[in-house]
Amino acid sequence: MPAKMFGFIGLGVMGYPMAVNLLKKLEDGGKLHVYDVSNHDLAKFKQEALDLVMVCSGAREVSERSDIIFTMVPEGSHVRSVYFGEGNGVLSAAIDGKVFVDCSTIDTKTSIEVHDAIRNKYPTASFYDAPVSGGSLGAAAGTLTFMLGCKEDDVNILVLKDLLDSMGSSIFPCGGFSLGLTAKLCNNYCSGLIAIATSEAMNIGIKSGMDPSLLSKIFTASTAQSTINDKWNPVPGVCPSAPASKDYRGGFKVQLMKKDFGLAVQTAKRVGARLCLGESGLAVYEQASEDEACRDRDSRVVFRYMGGDEDWKEKLVHQS
Ligand code: NAD
Repeated sequence: MPAKMFGFIGLGVMGYPMAVNLLKKLEDGGKLHVYDVSNHDLAKFKQEALDLVMVCSGAREVSERSDIIFTMVPEGSHVRSVYFGEGNGVLSAAIDGKVFVDCSTIDTKTSIEVHDAIRNKYPTASFYDAPVSGGSLGAAAGTLTFMLGCKEDDVNILVLKDLLDSMGSSIFPCGGFSLGLTAKLCNNYCSGLIAIATSEAMNIGIKSGMDPSLLSKIFTASTAQSTINDKWNPVPGVCPSAPASKDYRGGFKVQLMKKDFGLAVQTAKRVGARLCLGESGLAVYEQASEDEACRDRDSRVVFRYMGGDEDWKEKLVHQS
Protein backbone atom coordinates (compact mmCIF):
# COMPACT_ATOMS: atom_id res chain seq x y z
CA MET A 1 0.00 0.00 0.00
CA PRO A 2 1.46 3.45 -0.87
CA ALA A 3 2.44 5.68 2.06
CA LYS A 4 -0.25 8.04 3.23
CA MET A 5 0.13 11.64 2.15
CA PHE A 6 -0.62 14.31 4.74
CA GLY A 7 -1.70 17.91 4.36
CA PHE A 8 -1.56 20.88 6.75
CA ILE A 9 -3.22 24.25 6.14
CA GLY A 10 -2.47 27.16 8.52
CA LEU A 11 1.08 27.32 9.88
CA GLY A 12 0.62 29.91 12.64
CA VAL A 13 1.45 29.86 16.36
CA MET A 14 -0.30 26.50 16.81
CA GLY A 15 -0.28 24.97 13.33
CA TYR A 16 3.45 25.32 12.72
CA PRO A 17 4.65 23.23 15.69
CA MET A 18 1.78 20.77 15.20
CA ALA A 19 2.84 20.23 11.59
CA VAL A 20 6.47 19.79 12.69
CA ASN A 21 5.33 16.97 14.99
CA LEU A 22 3.19 15.45 12.25
CA LEU A 23 6.30 15.09 10.08
CA LYS A 24 7.37 12.29 12.45
CA LYS A 25 4.41 10.19 11.32
CA LEU A 26 5.38 10.18 7.65
CA GLU A 27 6.26 6.75 6.34
CA ASP A 28 8.88 6.14 3.65
CA GLY A 29 7.68 7.80 0.46
CA GLY A 30 5.17 9.98 2.32
CA LYS A 31 5.05 13.78 2.10
CA LEU A 32 3.51 16.64 4.04
CA HIS A 33 1.76 19.13 1.75
CA VAL A 34 1.39 22.57 3.31
CA TYR A 35 -0.32 25.86 2.61
CA ASP A 36 -0.64 29.19 4.42
CA VAL A 37 -1.60 32.61 3.11
CA SER A 38 1.71 33.80 4.55
CA ASN A 39 4.60 33.06 2.16
CA HIS A 40 7.01 33.74 4.99
CA ASP A 41 5.60 30.86 7.09
CA LEU A 42 5.62 28.55 4.08
CA ALA A 43 9.26 29.30 3.23
CA LYS A 44 10.28 28.81 6.86
CA PHE A 45 8.40 25.53 7.16
CA LYS A 46 9.95 24.14 3.96
CA GLN A 47 13.33 24.42 5.72
CA GLU A 48 12.13 22.03 8.45
CA ALA A 49 12.49 19.03 6.11
CA LEU A 50 13.35 19.86 2.51
CA ASP A 51 12.65 16.34 1.15
CA LEU A 52 9.46 15.73 3.09
CA VAL A 53 7.63 19.05 2.76
CA MET A 54 5.88 20.17 -0.38
CA VAL A 55 4.62 23.76 -0.48
CA CYS A 56 1.30 24.03 -2.35
CA SER A 57 -0.44 26.89 -4.13
CA GLY A 58 -3.66 26.66 -2.10
CA ALA A 59 -6.10 24.52 -0.12
CA ARG A 60 -7.24 22.85 -3.32
CA GLU A 61 -3.78 21.55 -4.22
CA VAL A 62 -3.14 20.36 -0.63
CA SER A 63 -6.44 18.43 -0.79
CA GLU A 64 -5.68 16.92 -4.19
CA ARG A 65 -2.26 15.67 -3.11
CA SER A 66 -3.07 14.43 0.43
CA ASP A 67 -5.13 11.64 2.02
CA ILE A 68 -5.52 13.24 5.46
CA ILE A 69 -5.61 17.03 5.78
CA PHE A 70 -5.40 19.14 8.94
CA THR A 71 -6.58 22.74 9.08
CA MET A 72 -5.61 25.22 11.83
CA VAL A 73 -6.76 28.77 11.07
CA PRO A 74 -8.03 31.53 13.38
CA GLU A 75 -11.81 31.90 12.89
CA GLY A 76 -14.91 30.62 11.11
CA SER A 77 -14.41 33.09 8.23
CA HIS A 78 -10.95 31.61 7.55
CA VAL A 79 -12.30 28.05 7.69
CA ARG A 80 -14.97 29.06 5.17
CA SER A 81 -12.36 30.50 2.85
CA VAL A 82 -10.18 27.34 3.15
CA TYR A 83 -13.08 24.98 2.40
CA PHE A 84 -15.45 27.05 0.24
CA GLY A 85 -12.95 29.43 -1.45
CA GLU A 86 -13.98 29.80 -5.07
CA GLY A 87 -11.64 27.91 -7.41
CA ASN A 88 -8.99 27.27 -4.77
CA GLY A 89 -10.90 25.88 -1.79
CA VAL A 90 -10.99 22.27 -0.57
CA LEU A 91 -14.41 21.71 -2.11
CA SER A 92 -13.15 22.60 -5.57
CA ALA A 93 -10.89 19.51 -5.48
CA ALA A 94 -12.00 15.89 -6.00
CA ILE A 95 -11.85 14.65 -2.40
CA ASP A 96 -13.56 11.24 -2.43
CA GLY A 97 -12.39 9.10 0.49
CA LYS A 98 -10.24 11.86 2.02
CA VAL A 99 -10.23 12.79 5.69
CA PHE A 100 -10.26 16.41 6.93
CA VAL A 101 -9.53 17.37 10.52
CA ASP A 102 -10.23 20.97 11.48
CA CYS A 103 -8.38 21.90 14.69
CA SER A 104 -9.42 25.59 14.64
CA THR A 105 -11.64 26.90 17.46
CA ILE A 106 -14.64 28.25 15.55
CA ASP A 107 -18.42 28.53 15.79
CA THR A 108 -20.26 25.22 15.58
CA LYS A 109 -22.56 26.61 12.85
CA THR A 110 -19.69 27.06 10.38
CA SER A 111 -18.25 23.68 11.28
CA ILE A 112 -21.59 21.95 10.69
CA GLU A 113 -21.98 23.74 7.32
CA VAL A 114 -18.54 22.54 6.17
CA HIS A 115 -19.29 19.02 7.42
CA ASP A 116 -22.61 18.91 5.56
CA ALA A 117 -21.20 20.42 2.36
CA ILE A 118 -18.44 17.80 2.24
CA ARG A 119 -20.79 14.93 3.05
CA ASN A 120 -23.36 16.04 0.46
CA LYS A 121 -20.86 16.47 -2.38
CA TYR A 122 -18.44 13.66 -1.47
CA PRO A 123 -20.22 11.04 0.68
CA THR A 124 -17.04 8.96 1.09
CA ALA A 125 -15.03 11.90 2.46
CA SER A 126 -14.99 12.72 6.20
CA PHE A 127 -14.72 15.95 8.14
CA TYR A 128 -14.02 16.20 11.89
CA ASP A 129 -13.90 19.09 14.34
CA ALA A 130 -10.87 18.56 16.59
CA PRO A 131 -10.05 21.73 18.56
CA VAL A 132 -7.14 21.67 20.96
CA SER A 133 -6.13 22.91 24.36
CA GLY A 134 -2.57 23.34 25.61
CA GLY A 135 -1.34 26.48 23.83
CA SER A 136 1.84 26.94 21.83
CA LEU A 137 3.98 25.17 24.46
CA GLY A 138 1.73 22.10 24.31
CA ALA A 139 1.82 22.25 20.50
CA ALA A 140 5.64 22.31 20.48
CA ALA A 141 5.93 19.55 23.08
CA GLY A 142 3.30 17.39 21.36
CA THR A 143 1.18 17.33 24.51
CA LEU A 144 -2.03 19.00 23.29
CA THR A 145 -5.46 17.81 24.36
CA PHE A 146 -7.65 17.03 21.34
CA MET A 147 -11.43 17.22 21.59
CA LEU A 148 -12.53 15.12 18.67
CA GLY A 149 -16.04 15.48 17.25
CA CYS A 150 -16.89 11.82 16.81
CA LYS A 151 -17.92 8.66 18.63
CA GLU A 152 -15.50 6.25 20.26
CA ASP A 153 -16.23 3.66 17.53
CA ASP A 154 -15.92 6.02 14.54
CA VAL A 155 -14.73 4.30 11.36
CA ASN A 156 -11.52 6.44 11.26
CA ILE A 157 -10.81 6.51 14.99
CA LEU A 158 -7.68 4.33 14.92
CA VAL A 159 -6.06 6.33 12.12
CA LEU A 160 -7.01 9.60 13.78
CA LYS A 161 -5.73 8.57 17.21
CA ASP A 162 -2.46 7.39 15.70
CA LEU A 163 -1.87 10.73 13.96
CA LEU A 164 -3.14 12.95 16.76
CA ASP A 165 -0.87 11.05 19.11
CA SER A 166 2.13 12.72 17.40
CA MET A 167 0.74 16.14 18.37
CA GLY A 168 -1.08 15.49 21.61
CA SER A 169 -1.09 13.43 24.77
CA SER A 170 -4.86 13.30 25.43
CA ILE A 171 -7.45 12.54 22.78
CA PHE A 172 -11.13 12.63 23.73
CA PRO A 173 -13.76 11.45 21.24
CA CYS A 174 -16.61 13.70 22.38
CA GLY A 175 -19.60 11.63 21.27
CA GLY A 176 -20.56 13.02 17.88
CA PHE A 177 -20.03 15.66 15.23
CA SER A 178 -19.40 19.24 16.46
CA LEU A 179 -19.20 18.08 20.09
CA GLY A 180 -15.42 18.54 20.04
CA LEU A 181 -16.05 22.27 19.52
CA THR A 182 -18.77 22.19 22.15
CA ALA A 183 -16.29 20.74 24.65
CA LYS A 184 -13.65 23.34 23.79
CA LEU A 185 -16.06 26.29 24.06
CA CYS A 186 -17.51 25.01 27.36
CA ASN A 187 -13.98 24.64 28.75
CA ASN A 188 -12.95 28.16 27.76
CA TYR A 189 -16.21 29.67 29.01
CA CYS A 190 -15.62 28.04 32.37
CA SER A 191 -11.91 28.88 32.64
CA GLY A 192 -12.60 32.47 31.47
CA LEU A 193 -15.11 32.95 34.28
CA ILE A 194 -12.80 31.33 36.83
CA ALA A 195 -10.06 33.81 35.84
CA ILE A 196 -12.44 36.73 36.46
CA ALA A 197 -13.69 35.27 39.75
CA THR A 198 -10.15 34.51 40.98
CA SER A 199 -9.00 38.02 40.04
CA GLU A 200 -11.93 39.61 41.88
CA ALA A 201 -11.48 37.48 44.98
CA MET A 202 -7.72 38.13 45.07
CA ASN A 203 -8.40 41.85 44.66
CA ILE A 204 -10.76 41.86 47.65
CA GLY A 205 -8.07 40.10 49.71
CA ILE A 206 -5.25 42.45 48.65
CA LYS A 207 -7.31 45.57 49.27
CA SER A 208 -8.11 44.20 52.74
CA GLY A 209 -4.36 43.94 53.47
CA MET A 210 -3.89 40.24 52.79
CA ASP A 211 -0.88 38.61 51.09
CA PRO A 212 -2.27 37.13 47.82
CA SER A 213 0.33 34.30 47.85
CA LEU A 214 -1.09 33.15 51.17
CA LEU A 215 -4.64 33.60 49.90
CA SER A 216 -3.81 31.49 46.85
CA LYS A 217 -2.43 28.70 49.08
CA ILE A 218 -5.66 28.81 51.10
CA PHE A 219 -7.69 28.53 47.86
CA THR A 220 -5.60 25.52 46.86
CA ALA A 221 -6.56 23.78 50.09
CA SER A 222 -10.18 24.97 49.99
CA THR A 223 -13.20 25.18 47.69
CA ALA A 224 -11.82 28.00 45.47
CA GLN A 225 -9.12 25.67 44.16
CA SER A 226 -8.60 25.70 40.38
CA THR A 227 -5.86 25.37 37.78
CA ILE A 228 -6.17 29.13 37.23
CA ASN A 229 -5.43 29.75 40.91
CA ASP A 230 -2.69 27.12 41.21
CA LYS A 231 -0.78 27.53 37.93
CA TRP A 232 -2.02 30.61 36.06
CA ASN A 233 -2.75 32.94 38.95
CA PRO A 234 -3.80 36.36 37.56
CA VAL A 235 -1.95 38.28 40.32
CA PRO A 236 1.68 39.10 39.41
CA GLY A 237 4.19 37.36 41.67
CA VAL A 238 1.89 34.63 42.99
CA CYS A 239 2.95 31.98 40.42
CA PRO A 240 6.48 32.96 39.32
CA SER A 241 6.27 31.12 35.98
CA ALA A 242 2.76 32.30 35.06
CA PRO A 243 2.33 35.03 32.38
CA ALA A 244 0.98 37.39 35.11
CA SER A 245 4.49 37.44 36.62
CA LYS A 246 5.99 38.38 33.24
CA ASP A 247 3.88 41.45 32.51
CA TYR A 248 1.21 39.05 31.18
CA ARG A 249 3.43 38.13 28.19
CA GLY A 250 2.97 34.71 26.55
CA GLY A 251 0.04 32.42 27.35
CA PHE A 252 -3.41 32.70 25.76
CA LYS A 253 -4.13 36.13 24.31
CA VAL A 254 -7.07 38.06 25.74
CA GLN A 255 -8.49 38.54 22.22
CA LEU A 256 -8.60 34.75 21.73
CA MET A 257 -10.46 34.39 25.04
CA LYS A 258 -12.89 37.07 23.87
CA LYS A 259 -13.48 35.08 20.65
CA ASP A 260 -13.99 31.73 22.41
CA PHE A 261 -16.08 33.20 25.22
CA GLY A 262 -18.28 34.97 22.64
CA LEU A 263 -18.68 31.71 20.68
CA ALA A 264 -19.73 29.94 23.88
CA VAL A 265 -22.32 32.66 24.61
CA GLN A 266 -23.63 32.33 21.01
CA THR A 267 -23.86 28.56 21.39
CA ALA A 268 -25.77 28.95 24.65
CA LYS A 269 -28.32 31.14 22.84
CA ARG A 270 -28.60 28.65 19.98
CA VAL A 271 -29.26 25.68 22.26
CA GLY A 272 -31.38 27.60 24.80
CA ALA A 273 -29.00 27.33 27.78
CA ARG A 274 -29.63 30.21 30.21
CA LEU A 275 -26.45 32.02 31.28
CA CYS A 276 -26.26 34.12 34.43
CA LEU A 277 -22.71 35.41 33.89
CA GLY A 278 -22.30 35.19 30.12
CA GLU A 279 -22.99 38.79 29.10
CA SER A 280 -20.98 40.37 31.91
CA GLY A 281 -18.06 37.96 31.40
CA LEU A 282 -18.06 38.69 27.68
CA ALA A 283 -18.08 42.46 28.33
CA VAL A 284 -14.95 42.06 30.49
CA TYR A 285 -13.05 40.25 27.74
CA GLU A 286 -14.31 42.63 25.02
CA GLN A 287 -13.24 45.70 26.95
CA ALA A 288 -9.91 44.20 28.05
CA SER A 289 -9.17 43.33 24.40
CA GLU A 290 -9.60 47.01 23.47
CA ASP A 291 -7.55 48.30 26.42
CA GLU A 292 -3.99 49.24 25.35
CA ALA A 293 -2.57 47.99 28.68
CA CYS A 294 -4.20 44.57 28.22
CA ARG A 295 -4.40 43.89 24.47
CA ASP A 296 -2.14 41.10 23.14
CA ARG A 297 -1.45 39.93 26.70
CA ASP A 298 -2.41 36.70 28.41
CA SER A 299 -6.15 36.58 29.16
CA ARG A 300 -5.50 36.50 32.91
CA VAL A 301 -4.72 40.21 32.41
CA VAL A 302 -8.33 40.72 33.58
CA PHE A 303 -6.77 41.36 37.02
CA ARG A 304 -5.03 44.43 35.56
CA TYR A 305 -8.17 45.39 33.64
CA MET A 306 -10.19 45.56 36.89
CA GLY A 307 -7.55 47.75 38.52
CA GLY A 308 -6.00 45.01 40.65
CA ASP A 309 -3.00 46.06 42.72
CA GLU A 310 0.07 44.76 40.87
CA ASP A 311 2.46 46.41 43.40
CA TRP A 312 1.03 44.53 46.36
CA LYS A 313 4.47 43.24 47.46
CA GLU A 314 5.94 46.69 48.10
CA LYS A 315 2.83 47.79 49.94
CA LEU A 316 2.90 44.71 52.18
CA VAL A 317 6.55 45.47 53.10
CA HIS A 318 5.63 49.06 54.04
CA GLN A 319 2.68 47.86 56.12
CA SER A 320 4.76 45.44 58.20
P1 NAD B 1 -2.40 32.26 14.19
O1 NAD B 1 -3.06 33.51 13.76
O2 NAD B 1 -1.07 32.29 14.81
O3 NAD B 1 -2.27 31.27 12.93
C1 NAD B 1 -3.24 31.10 11.96
C2 NAD B 1 -2.57 30.83 10.62
O4 NAD B 1 -3.58 30.62 9.64
C3 NAD B 1 -1.72 32.02 10.14
O5 NAD B 1 -0.43 31.56 9.79
C4 NAD B 1 -2.50 32.54 8.94
O6 NAD B 1 -1.65 33.10 7.95
C5 NAD B 1 -3.18 31.27 8.46
N1 NAD B 1 -4.35 31.50 7.62
C6 NAD B 1 -5.36 32.39 7.83
N2 NAD B 1 -6.26 32.27 6.83
C7 NAD B 1 -5.83 31.31 6.00
C8 NAD B 1 -6.32 30.74 4.80
N3 NAD B 1 -7.46 31.15 4.25
N4 NAD B 1 -5.59 29.76 4.20
C9 NAD B 1 -4.42 29.34 4.75
N5 NAD B 1 -3.91 29.84 5.89
C10 NAD B 1 -4.60 30.81 6.50
O7 NAD B 1 -3.47 31.53 15.13
P2 NAD B 1 -3.17 30.36 16.19
O8 NAD B 1 -2.80 30.94 17.51
O9 NAD B 1 -2.31 29.32 15.55
O10 NAD B 1 -4.66 29.81 16.42
C11 NAD B 1 -5.29 28.96 15.46
C12 NAD B 1 -6.55 28.42 16.10
O11 NAD B 1 -6.21 27.66 17.28
C13 NAD B 1 -7.54 29.49 16.58
O12 NAD B 1 -8.85 29.09 16.28
C14 NAD B 1 -7.28 29.57 18.09
O13 NAD B 1 -8.43 29.98 18.81
C15 NAD B 1 -6.94 28.13 18.39
N6 NAD B 1 -6.11 27.95 19.59
C16 NAD B 1 -5.06 28.79 19.84
C17 NAD B 1 -4.30 28.62 20.98
C18 NAD B 1 -3.14 29.54 21.29
O14 NAD B 1 -2.64 29.50 22.44
N7 NAD B 1 -2.66 30.32 20.32
C19 NAD B 1 -4.60 27.59 21.89
C20 NAD B 1 -5.65 26.72 21.60
C21 NAD B 1 -6.41 26.91 20.42
